[in-house]
Amino acid sequence: MSVSSAALSCPIPKSDYARISIAHGGGGRLTQDLIRKIFLPAFGNAALEAQGDAAQLDLPSARIAITTDSYVVRPLFFPGGDIGTLAVNGTVNDLAVSGATPRALSAAFILEEGLEIETLWRVALSMRAAADAACDGPIPIVAGDTKVIERGSAEPGLMIAMTGIGERIEPAPSPARIREGAAILVSGPIGDHGMAVMSAREGLEFESPIRSDCAPLFRMASALLATGGVQCMRDLTRGGLSSALNELAESSGLRFAIDEAAAPVRAEVRAACEIFGIDPMYVACEGRLVAFVERAAAAAALGAMRACEGGEGAAIIGAAEAGRPEVVVLTRFGALRPLDMLSGEQLPRIC
Ligand code: MG
Repeated sequence: MSVSSAALSCPIPKSDYARISIAHGGGGRLTQDLIRKIFLPAFGNAALEAQGDAAQLDLPSARIAITTDSYVVRPLFFPGGDIGTLAVNGTVNDLAVSGATPRALSAAFILEEGLEIETLWRVALSMRAAADAACDGPIPIVAGDTKVIERGSAEPGLMIAMTGIGERIEPAPSPARIREGAAILVSGPIGDHGMAVMSAREGLEFESPIRSDCAPLFRMASALLATGGVQCMRDLTRGGLSSALNELAESSGLRFAIDEAAAPVRAEVRAACEIFGIDPMYVACEGRLVAFVERAAAAAALGAMRACEGGEGAAIIGAAEAGRPEVVVLTRFGALRPLDMLSGEQLPRIC
C-alpha cells in the first residue's frame, strides 16, 4: 500500500479499537496488528517488510556513522512540526553535520496506554514524509520496536527513540579540525523551535505565530562541504547556540568571540524569550547549524548557506581565537560577557 492511498484514513477502523491498550505491546496478535496495519503501510520498504530480527542492509561504503536520540516533546504536535518530524530531522541532522549521508533509520516507540491509534498513524505518516524529503532519495525506516506502558506514565502518549546510520566522508568535519581564525556562521534565526513548543504548551499567542524551524540540514551541510574550508559543523538542538559553542570551545581548546548583534533572532521569538525569562542563545533549534569555516572561505560558505532552503537568514557571528577555551559575547551595549554553559534544564521536554 502506498502512503498516498493509505493517508486518506487510519487503516485500523475505530470500530476495531480506537486506542492503544497494554496488549499492543505484548508481542501477540495486537502487536502484529500494529505492525501490519500501521507501521508497514506507513514505512513500507523491503528491509522492514522482511520482518527479520535485524534488518539486512547493503551499503557501498564501509565508513559508517551512527547516531541515536530519544524524543519526548510535549505537545506532540506544534506549529511547524510534530514528534515524528522532530525524530527524523533530529537524527538526519546529527549525521549530516558529521559529514555523513543518511542511509537508514530505526524507530522505537514507547506508547502510553490510551493513546489514540489515529495519533500514532498521523505521527507515522509524518515520519515517512520527513524521511522521504530529508535527502536526495528516501531514507528507509528499516527496524522498529513498540512498547506500551501504563496510562499516566508517558504523557502525552508517545515517545520515540531513533537511530540513524549514514555513510561518512573522510576526513569528516570535527571539533578537532577547528583552527584559530575560523569564521563562525549560523544558518538562520535562533530559538524558533523552543519558543514554538513553549508557546503551544502554554497557549501563548503572538501577532505572528512562532513556527518551529524543524527541518533537515543534509542539503545545506552538503553544499557547505562542497565549498571547501569547512572545519566543523554542529546542529543547534538542546541548549541552543550557547551549548553548541561551549561544547566546541571545550573540545577545540579555543576561545570563541561572538557578536550578539550579528546573531539573528526573530522579533516574536525575542518577545517570547522575554516572557519566559530566557536568553535566545540558550533556546533549542531543530533546523539550524553552526559552522566553523576557514576565514578565506567564509564568504563562499555564507553564500552557500543562503542559497539553501531555510538558510536565507544565515550570518557570520564571530570567530575562533587563541586563548583559553570559553565563549565571550560582545553585547549590543558594547560590553563583553561570558556565555556560560547552561546549568540545569531551563526548558523541559521541547525535543
Ligand atoms: Mg547534534
